[in-house]
Amino acid sequence: MAQIRIENLRKDFGSFNAVKASTFTVEDGEFFMLLGPSGCGKTTTLRMMAGLELPTSGEIYIDGEEVGMKRASQRDIAFVFQMFALYPHMNVGKNISYPLLSQGMSRADARRKVAEVAKILGIEGLLDRPVGGLSGGDRQRVALGRAIVRSPKAFLMDEPLGALDAEFREHMSEELRALHDRMGATTVYVTHDQLEAMQMGDKIVVMNHGVVEQFGVPQQIYDWPATRFVAAFIGSPPMNFLDFDGAVTAGDTELTIGETRIDVPRQLEAAMGALTLGVRPEHLHLSDEAPYRGEIVAAEYLGTTQIVTLDTAFGRVKARIPSHEVVRTGTHTGLAFDARTLTVFDGVTGRALV
Ligand code: ATP
Repeated sequence: MAQIRIENLRKDFGSFNAVKASTFTVEDGEFFMLLGPSGCGKTTTLRMMAGLELPTSGEIYIDGEEVGMKRASQRDIAFVFQMFALYPHMNVGKNISYPLLSQGMSRADARRKVAEVAKILGIEGLLDRPVGGLSGGDRQRVALGRAIVRSPKAFLMDEPLGALDAEFREHMSEELRALHDRMGATTVYVTHDQLEAMQMGDKIVVMNHGVVEQFGVPQQIYDWPATRFVAAFIGSPPMNFLDFDGAVTAGDTELTIGETRIDVPRQLEAAMGALTLGVRPEHLHLSDEAPYRGEIVAAEYLGTTQIVTLDTAFGRVKARIPSHEVVRTGTHTGLAFDARTLTVFDGVTGRALV
């Protein structure tokens, strides 16, 4: 097992800067998610960790040793790709034992090791089968088997479930997480799916345009987003943003919007001119007495909850409320929120003022 530390890691492709001075640490045994939209640099970051791409500058430490310029084969980590790269002419057992035999392990030892791994993955019955006829899930299990059989220091996975349909994907993600919990090996997992990152990760790095926007445990990232980008990217529907003119002095714990004073949960950093208030849909409630008013323009039924869309003086907002509450489009209602759940952003830089 291994700790992986990234310091000021940068990657340029010609004049294009794909990864900008990234710094974060993957602790020993963590299931760690690299999350962000397409093109944000997560795959490039993972490929640098794996030794498949050389950094332009910065360092990668595995267990304290700088490996940035070392070849992939010298790092003792396994890379699992989205497309299950199996050898089609070999059966399941041979596919899994291949990395061991190519390292010079004896056939008897390799057979023992393959049996162990097949048991962990629940594919003991498939060892003699050709890989060609396997289902997507079994092929993925075989690919995982081939990655874990060497007991590498860490696993690097690039959207390993990306090719699976939604239902099966959820099932495999649970399996993968359970497998990790049994083996405890450091895992870095690339995804653009915020839900997958929240469900599976011990920690998440959120990237955008090559920049690490935030790094923390899922709850921290959801409840205390460091930037407006993170707040918008995590959560569905995303956080509501209300832009207004205002100013805060360092240490303030209240804001004034028009006539209303709002106590905010934490001391704020200074900002001038433009502010953005962030509130998650589940923290907005409909209440006739509430001072903010809005017109209900849509209601979307989701089973136990419904998403209500309202037009307000600050723009369009969404509230997630219990589905038994009766709402009528075209009517006006008050909107209440608990100030402790608010996030305040600098309206210009998008950084949370906390
Ligand atoms: P995706 O989920 O779409 O793979 P990503 O976040 O993993 O996105 P990267 O694949 O790391 O993003 O790519 C980051 C940026 O670097 C993209 O704009 C991409 O076009 C560019 N890029 C990646 N590899 C190369 C390369 N070999 N040469 C030139 N540009 C590249």
